Amino acid sequence: MNRRNFLIYGGTLSVIAIAAAKGFSWPAQAASAETFEIKKTDAEWRAILTDEQYRILRHEDTERPFSSALNTEKRKGTFQCAGCALPVYSSEAKYDSGTGWPSFWQSLPGAVATREDNSLFMSRTECHCRRCGGHLGHVFDDGPAPTGKRHCINGFAMTFAPASA
Ligand SMILES: [Zn+2]
Repeated sequence: MNRRNFLIYGGTLSVIAIAAAKGFSWPAQAASAETFEIKKTDAEWRAILTDEQYRILRHEDTERPFSSALNTEKRKGTFQCAGCALPVYSSEAKYDSGTGWPSFWQSLPGAVATREDNSLFMSRTECHCRRCGGHLGHVFDDGPAPTGKRHCINGFAMTFAPASA
């Protein structure tokens, strides 16, 4: 075994060892220097969220396309984080991307934070609620004008508040 092969082999073993040590449970949310105004333990989140909300918001699961009623929500109003009720998207920025997930070309100002997500062998931009850290979805660069962004959001990560009047 030459040195290069040895390094590759060793690296692979480390990855396997780390995965084994974690017990193959839910992937931990990526370590981040971010702090959030609203903090709860895993058990507390599990108690207040539905199973689907919990898996998405707290463990970055992705709902099946076309599974959320919010995908076809067309009324004027505000989409709120299902974890902490922070308004995160406006109906003004919603459009039909055809993907089966609620899609927006921008978030409400200061409502959503992003970080690099290199899971599933892809490099993507993850986005989450800036107040509770709940995972919302991903942001892609193939959206419409004026931003060119596509915020691809899990409908189960949000609730909808129709505009009054
Ligand atoms: Zn939130």
